[in-house]
Amino acid sequence: MTNSIKTYLKHTAKDFHNQSVNPPVVRASTIIFKSLQDIKRTQNKYLKNPVSGNFDYGRQGTSTTYALQQILRKLEECYKVYLTPTGFGAVFLSVMSVIEPEDEILVTDSVYSPTRLLTETYLKKFNVKALFYNPSDFNDLKSKITKKTKLIFVENPGSNTFEFQDLSKIIKIAKKNKIFTAIDNTWGTPYLLKPIKLGFDMSIVSATKYYSGHSDVMGGSLAISKRVFKLVETTNKISGLRLGPDDAYLILRGIRTLDVRLDKHQENALKVANYLSKQKKVIKVFYPYKKGSINFKLWKKYYSGASGLLGFKIRSKNKNSVLKFVNSLKLFGYGFSWGGFESLALYQSHEALGKRQFTHLNKDEHVIRMHIGLEDPNDIISDIKQALKFIK
Ligand SMILES: *Cc1c(COP(=O)(O)O)cnc(C)c1O
Repeated sequence: MTNSIKTYLKHTAKDFHNQSVNPPVVRASTIIFKSLQDIKRTQNKYLKNPVSGNFDYGRQGTSTTYALQQILRKLEECYKVYLTPTGFGAVFLSVMSVIEPEDEILVTDSVYSPTRLLTETYLKKFNVKALFYNPSDFNDLKSKITKKTKLIFVENPGSNTFEFQDLSKIIKIAKKNKIFTAIDNTWGTPYLLKPIKLGFDMSIVSATKYYSGHSDVMGGSLAISKRVFKLVETTNKISGLRLGPDDAYLILRGIRTLDVRLDKHQENALKVANYLSKQKKVIKVFYPYKKGSINFKLWKKYYSGASGLLGFKIRSKNKNSVLKFVNSLKLFGYGFSWGGFESLALYQSHEALGKRQFTHLNKDEHVIRMHIGLEDPNDIISDIKQALKFIK
């Protein structure tokens, strides 16, 4: 009998504890061995099986981080998972693992802004050139592939504007041209989309968001296929990136309810998106809420569900009244990150979106991002309703 992932998430990590339900927090720098031969034996076991927990030093992790690695490996259905102290650490690890001087990399134009900074600016130091492709136009991506292209970096859906891409097409063209592929899967997590199974070489999730789910810890994961194992293993070793056991414990605690929370985030977000779609001042809703809505087909083709993060576009000549709308929300917090149990809202400035090549916003158009939390959806909608009145 094979249990579903919903059951697995609750019953896993049994190998790591004695009688307590949860694995203990094991903190270690030095790992003590019985003899010098024993050190060698453990190292050889790890070399033979790099997904085993035969660690010889605390930088590789402890039994607590290993428990989380094992759960994520099963959830991702991948070869190996690396844990990083933040989600961005996992982005950094993925890119740095594969690039070499003279390379070009293709990056989706609607990528998370720190990823843009890394690829567009920082990589110049290594003589690596980033080209940004239009996430809504596969031919644009295709036309930018050259003999030098080493990596295609996808984020699905795109940050703030939520474009969904035809992932299999990207994988196919990358394989044909021997290009590595990476995807930032923070929005959906492997609960809703399994990128490595689909054919991506690397998949990033910010554990800060839905894995933890409680806005009290940061972390990241990089899931990989066997094809990039040697490259990532080496870069991980010299990067010094390591998730601490206390943080790993909190993420383990959060992940038990990943499915329950995501199901509810979706249920609530769907109600909010439907409500927003009926408001005159809202001209676009960036969420796959019904057949025929923006990107619905491409979402449906790959995802088993949707999460709680959405965007929408408002038309108003009066920017201050839009800001007043956001500022008048009573149940929403204003702040970065998302994926916790609580609702959040942000105004996406024209300046920030203006760094992109393919996002065109008129002066009277405004993009709002909302994370729909686990509150009663009727209360969330009432709150939005009272605030919408301020838009002129
Ligand atoms: C938040 C986020 C990250 C970075 O994660 P941190 O844990 O905050 O470092 C990367 N990608 C996406 C899409 C994100 O939303």
